Amino acid sequence: MKQSLRLGRVAGIPVGVNWSVLVILLLITQIVARSVLPRADAGRSMAVYWAVALPTAVLFLASLLAHEGAHAAVARNKGLGVRSITLWMLGGVAQLDGEPPNARADFAIAAAGPVTSLAVGVALFAGAEAAASLGSPSAIVAALAWTGATNAFLAVFNLLPGAPLDGGRILRALVWMRSGDRARGDRAATLAGQVMGAALAGAGVAQLIFLGQTGGLWLMLIGWFLIWAAGSEAKARVVQEAVSGVHVRDLMEPSPECAAAWRPVGEFIATVATHSRQSVFPVVGFDGEPCGVVTLARLARVPPASAGDRTDTVAVALPHDYRAEPDDPVSSLTGRRPLAGMLLAVVVTGHRVVGTVTTDDVGRLVQQSMLRAGYAPSPVD
Ligand SMILES: [Zn+2]
Repeated sequence: MKQSLRLGRVAGIPVGVNWSVLVILLLITQIVARSVLPRADAGRSMAVYWAVALPTAVLFLASLLAHEGAHAAVARNKGLGVRSITLWMLGGVAQLDGEPPNARADFAIAAAGPVTSLAVGVALFAGAEAAASLGSPSAIVAALAWTGATNAFLAVFNLLPGAPLDGGRILRALVWMRSGDRARGDRAATLAGQVMGAALAGAGVAQLIFLGQTGGLWLMLIGWFLIWAAGSEAKARVVQEAVSGVHVRDLMEPSPECAAAWRPVGEFIATVATHSRQSVFPVVGFDGEPCGVVTLARLARVPPASAGDRTDTVAVALPHDYRAEPDDPVSSLTGRRPLAGMLLAVVVTGHRVVGTVTTDDVGRLVQQSMLRAGYAPSPVD
């Protein structure tokens, strides 16, 4: 999650917000000003409601930071690095470096967030009580109580036992503790997250169809998000595990056939492309340096008339800067958007093309790694 605005550093950790946090800021200000406060303290002007609602929304965001800060503090205490804490549209993210060293640490890091939210909730309720007994305006008391209740709700929601929620990580830690196998804990948390997401989405559909309540749309959205997030987290983890420690040289298709940039494309199609086992070809210049790629799909779109003529291959090539060196880690390629839907890198040593890496190569590596780990290739197919 990109930080659009840096708020500062807490204990050396950069804390910031993504612009999308404005969505929750506005949503919460709106809910508090239009519905929470008028109900608790009727008869005041709208200006008063907005003036109380905005700081309430900021207080709520601060309590989200406390939640993420607790994850980060415990992670650091367990020896993990913390890259950043960022607030965005759907809450907070504490980006940790690496995985917890053991199941106990995993449990402690996961539990720290909801425990903090619960503690913040209780403290805000106590604050509301104190404000009431001191004779503060009902709007202030209601704002504190609402923020307290929302924190308590968040603590409970986050404890639902499925990835990507904190409860899912707690479930993973418990399975890991019992079985001694982290991967097994991961799979349990992913499955639980998907089942839970499906149940929420199903409840939303039922609410919409049978009760005619549009609130069902929210449940459907949250359920769908959980299913998606649990699945993509599992995929990312499987890929990450498969590529860790693997270098480009171990994975690349070595000595690929290349197309000479200055030769006619018709000649390349007739002599190489129609016979090769490759579907993507680096295009190289006089000096052997890659200057683009052509794929079979791209060559197939070359009109037959020009295939016979002297159009240079470089004229139909896709330009790119997807270079890699044989010693680069494969993990540096997996975040790339594949060129022409397949190419991740043209591997170059000195000025010579020595290999290519495609999504097929990474897919094969992932499947082999899953096969070795002994689990069915369901999360990634
Ligand atoms: Zn959390």
